[in-house]
Amino acid sequence: MAKYVMALDAGTTSNRCVLFDEKGGVCSVAQKEFRQYFPQPGWVEHDAHEIWSTQLGVAVEAMQAIGAGAEDIAAIGITNQRETTILWDKATGEPVCRAIVWQCRRTSAICDRLREQGLAPWFREKTGLVIDAYFSATKIMWILENIPGVREKAKRGEILFGTVETWLIWKLTRGKVHVTDYSNASRTMLFNIRTLTWDHEILEKLNIPPSILPTPVPSSQLFGAADEIFFGAPILIAGAAGDQQAALFGEAGFSAGEAKNTYGTGCFLLMNTGESPVFSRNGLVTTIAWGIGGRVCYALEGSIFVAGAAVQWLRDELKVIETAAESETLAAQVEDTCGCYLVPAFTGLGAPYWNQHARGCLVGLTRGVNRKHLVRAVLESIAYQTADVLAAMQDDAGLTLSALKADGGAAKNDFLMQFQSDIINAPVYRPACVETTALGAAYLAGLAVGFWESTEALRNNGRIDRVFEPSMTEAARQEKMSGWKKAVARSLDWSD
Ligand code: ADP
Repeated sequence: MAKYVMALDAGTTSNRCVLFDEKGGVCSVAQKEFRQYFPQPGWVEHDAHEIWSTQLGVAVEAMQAIGAGAEDIAAIGITNQRETTILWDKATGEPVCRAIVWQCRRTSAICDRLREQGLAPWFREKTGLVIDAYFSATKIMWILENIPGVREKAKRGEILFGTVETWLIWKLTRGKVHVTDYSNASRTMLFNIRTLTWDHEILEKLNIPPSILPTPVPSSQLFGAADEIFFGAPILIAGAAGDQQAALFGEAGFSAGEAKNTYGTGCFLLMNTGESPVFSRNGLVTTIAWGIGGRVCYALEGSIFVAGAAVQWLRDELKVIETAAESETLAAQVEDTCGCYLVPAFTGLGAPYWNQHARGCLVGLTRGVNRKHLVRAVLESIAYQTADVLAAMQDDAGLTLSALKADGGAAKNDFLMQFQSDIINAPVYRPACVETTALGAAYLAGLAVGFWESTEALRNNGRIDRVFEPSMTEAARQEKMSGWKKAVARSLDWSD
């Protein structure tokens, strides 16, 4: 009997492998960073070979660390940095150039042109996305246009495209399986999220040959098997999802109205909206959360540019704290912020304000404001921004948030979690297992092969470290939120 499910977590700066047992417990972890290439300002690349070799390396390492063999692994699930684009030669497996990473801005001008042609509503309606260089479509166009010979080869059917999960599955199956899961497909800007097929009108408009595209498949399904040369015997590959979607799954956000927020450098919020896509009036993107059991779940997604980064700013630029964790101690030593607000609009503001000319501001200062108040205002700003995005999501979806599930580095901060719960007036759950992204991939794979019975069984699995229940009065909440809105208004349209 297999004892573990293997999660391959192919991130932006490192690849990890985590082996989970039936209870969702972490039994082994291995991790390796890989090189980031910045060939020009704003450009970011990875070596696809290195993504593969480090991923395979950590998988073997995680198994060896606990003496696990292929027969001990029920299935492999993959979660990955989304949108990053790889094109390779179908016959040789050689990438035609380095992978273009999601963060890479080289195709901004292509996106501007598409927007100028008035295509934004057209893309939104089909793909759920805003036109942006993040998504794979314009990265593929760039490669086809700029790497000599690739377009001709692609026309002859000799080139394959994949996001990172597609690449890893192709490599693990030694070129036998070329698939992408729905959640990853929904980040390409080429995928029709209603029909669950590549959108031929878009492909024609962008001049992308359909022959390069992987077959879209549900996120929890038998895709194929990792070749025996890698682990001594074949292991089934049975799950895949983009990192943010996998985190929502890993936190058991299976039902409409459940949401997760990853508190990292920035924040990534996803709210499950159920089985039909919800199109946002507030500039959020619509995405496929996962496909499982013949059904597809959709989500609204929003991000916050500066969250934990504001804590780093306190530490590294202002030097008012020495460690990120110290922010909690200081914030808890004062009753409130003494009326001051910090809006960390260092790079403009995203949803629901969408003001790229907004800049950071500190307002409401009086003579009594000290560094503890300032630190507290920074932590509170993370919660306010989250509350703004959640309000937009609930408004778009016509759903009431039942609970917020928190993960990421800054979710360790108890003060922040309590204030978050107070300000959204809903419980905040912090899981005991911080590996929620990897766990989500493991769940998807384990469900497909019967390692776990049902999503209901998984709900009981998810051990909660702590639940933060709201305890603020409605009047206090209203007062604080209205102060925040006033502060945001002061930050808008600052730079020209
Ligand atoms: P990322 O994956 O974006 O690099 P992490 O999930 O590792 O981010 O979280 C790191 C971020 O969380 C940093 O910006 C850091 O300032 C912040 N952070 C870490 N610990 C704390 C803490 N105890 N309180 C507040 N912020 C924290």
